[in-house]
Amino acid sequence: MARDLGPKCRMCRREGVKLFLKGERCLTEKCAIERRAYPPGEHGRGRIKQSEYLLQLREKQKARRTYGLLEKQFRTTFERASRGVGSTGENLLRLLETRLDNVVYRLGFAGSRAQARQLVRHGHFNVNGRRVNIPSFGVRPGFVVALRAGSPVESLVRDATDLTASVAPWLQADHEGLSGTVLKWPERAEIDTPVQESLIVELYSK
Ligand code: SF4
Repeated sequence: MARDLGPKCRMCRREGVKLFLKGERCLTEKCAIERRAYPPGEHGRGRIKQSEYLLQLREKQKARRTYGLLEKQFRTTFERASRGVGSTGENLLRLLETRLDNVVYRLGFAGSRAQARQLVRHGHFNVNGRRVNIPSFGVRPGFVVALRAGSPVESLVRDATDLTASVAPWLQADHEGLSGTVLKWPERAEIDTPVQESLIVELYSK
């Protein structure tokens, strides 16, 4: 499974926002953004010349890192979004949000998307009653995602639900039964990922 293995807090500091890549630690004062709110590296506190390209690049990197995708996977998702009906930027966010690993995270069954991806990859979740171990699997309205009966990670998943303050409005979670239902496609206003998708579209349209 290809994934970005770079230091996670460094990614947040580069983008200048909390990307919530480390689960519980992101909610504590140990968060690197709280302690060092400037870009990493020797010139982190120097002046960086802003350009249109840099703004677009940073926005794309922010989205890519938030969802934990490599460049090629992100680009492929963008191309799928551009073939869809309607706004490419919104299609892109909808495709990213409805990935199975993201849905497990949004339902509160994992502390981070990285943890959700690992749980899915190891086959701990069923979709509509069948085991699915593909993190990029796209869910649709009406799909039911549930922890497999007898899974050895049940206590870990329950711990994650205890830390979950809210569940995305387009999902319905049953934290007692450790299952969730996709109620509808997510609207743009229901996706709280702090990215301006129009800048990503501009970047890839060059
Ligand atoms: Fe980002 Fe979490 Fe690290 Fe804070 S603790 S910098 S939110 S990964």
